[in-house]
Amino acid sequence: MSYPDQRTNDEWRAVLNKEQFRILREKGTEPPGSGTYDKHYPSEGVYGCAGCGAPLYKANHKFKSGCGWPAYYDSIPGAVTRHEDRSFGISRTEIVCSNCGGHLGHVFKGEGFDTPTDERHCVNSVSLTFSPQDKRSTGEGDGKGKESKA
Ligand SMILES: [Zn+2]
Repeated sequence: MSYPDQRTNDEWRAVLNKEQFRILREKGTEPPGSGTYDKHYPSEGVYGCAGCGAPLYKANHKFKSGCGWPAYYDSIPGAVTRHEDRSFGISRTEIVCSNCGGHLGHVFKGEGFDTPTDERHCVNSVSLTFSPQDKRSTGEGDGKGKESKA
């Protein structure tokens, strides 16, 4: 799998702190209830990737799951890539940033939460950065999408 942001581990170490590196690049998990964004419910804004800054989730995707990690019922279209994760002998769906491949967490389905998708994106706070302004750079709405750099 290749991603647009192809930084090496050494390059990531230079820009991430230890905990960010452990989670984003080595697929770690923060302790439940420890995260900055676990109990964070802004009315607007965007959560981006703590590695590359790509916008991932909007404030209104977030819901109260009580699971100990930030939970979102959906992502910004295309921002998150899913993989099957068979570690620990169970099959789960891992989610990574579509731009840099940074590990975010896992998606769980059909848990019965009262959300439009019945999915829970269970994301490490360490993998996220929050910006209170919706900068309209998410490729939605203006019908143009991304600029071509080719
Ligand atoms: Zn990223």
